[in-house]
Amino acid sequence: MNAAIWAHPWDVVDEGPERVAQRLTDLGIDEVNLATAMHSVQTLNPHNPDRKTFFADASVYFQPEEGRYGEITPDVNSTMGDRDWLAEIADGFDDTPIALNSWSATFHSSSLGRQHPDATIESPFGDSLIWGLCPSSPAVQEYGRALTGDLTDRGVFDAVEMELADYQYGTGYGWHHQEWFTRMGPLGEFLFGLCFCEHCRSRATDAGVDVERARESARDGLTDRFEGRVAHDTDVGGWLKAHPAVDAYADVRCDTLAALYDDLSDVVSPSDFGYYFKMGGLGDDRMGVEHSWKHGIDLSSLGDLIDEATVLAYHRDPTVVRDDVNATRTLLDAPVRAGILAGHPIVHDRETLLAQTRAAVDAGADALSFYGYGVVPERNLDWIGDALAAIE
Ligand SMILES: [Zn+2]
Repeated sequence: MNAAIWAHPWDVVDEGPERVAQRLTDLGIDEVNLATAMHSVQTLNPHNPDRKTFFADASVYFQPEEGRYGEITPDVNSTMGDRDWLAEIADGFDDTPIALNSWSATFHSSSLGRQHPDATIESPFGDSLIWGLCPSSPAVQEYGRALTGDLTDRGVFDAVEMELADYQYGTGYGWHHQEWFTRMGPLGEFLFGLCFCEHCRSRATDAGVDVERARESARDGLTDRFEGRVAHDTDVGGWLKAHPAVDAYADVRCDTLAALYDDLSDVVSPSDFGYYFKMGGLGDDRMGVEHSWKHGIDLSSLGDLIDEATVLAYHRDPTVVRDDVNATRTLLDAPVRAGILAGHPIVHDRETLLAQTRAAVDAGADALSFYGYGVVPERNLDWIGDALAAIE
């Protein structure tokens, strides 16, 4: 079975791409999903020879071809400077069995959000949510196409894979020292992240939606949640049935994203176009792929546009990993890769990783991806090797 591992470029260049390739081959890994455009992050790198932690603002890890971009241009990682980590890694992997895939969190950039507040997701109250660029914005769409073309045309990737190239979610997957002392729950998260930027409003108006009514209902719904007038575990679908303007407003996003992904799949061709299903939360709070509509993703149209779906099946209980893979296979007409987090807070021992890997394979996963090369300790890498050997 095809097995990939996610990797940040600093861990690969610090250790040396050739040495990493050999090590991965020994573990039974044949692909690397390399971070090329990523959100801000601090990583702990237990086995990195040069640095045990890395701080990065949202940035790209290659030298972009500047003429491709319009209003929004990528930020080159400040630690990388004039180097081109992507080029170094692609060269290093060239004579090895390791295939390279691009992994980008295309619209999740607090750096670009700060520079372009007009292009960010805007809460129903009018706040700019700076961690997320809104896919309805023409400037953001142009950026998505340019970035994807820039990466594809390097000619080094078998697949170009995207994460969070969608409308994301209210808390934006975390921020420094977040102070959210109100339990948002799925409804609060959904409504707070429902974008009311000028582009989303204009698209919804064109589709015949009563936008002001939708915004007022979304604000009222949030205030009701803040004040405890609706429960934290209110079913979002049920709430939307009672608030049809919001329902219709959210629906318009699906058409916008489907059209954008249609463009992106053309840009990516002839490489494969992969999409990650990361629907918020981790462990017991994690939502399954069936919640993708909350990010504006219409699974029925997406199946025709992507070559592979990766479900991030990050859950301690192997039966939930199995259910995640099953649900993705049922809901989406595309090959399904299971993403498995091979470390804390999900996996703390070899047996759990083996059970999760087995569950994904038994549920019919077509391929596997493990998280992640530099961020798990040596012993966890060994567990990945053992898990792959066990399913052969
Ligand atoms: Zn918007």
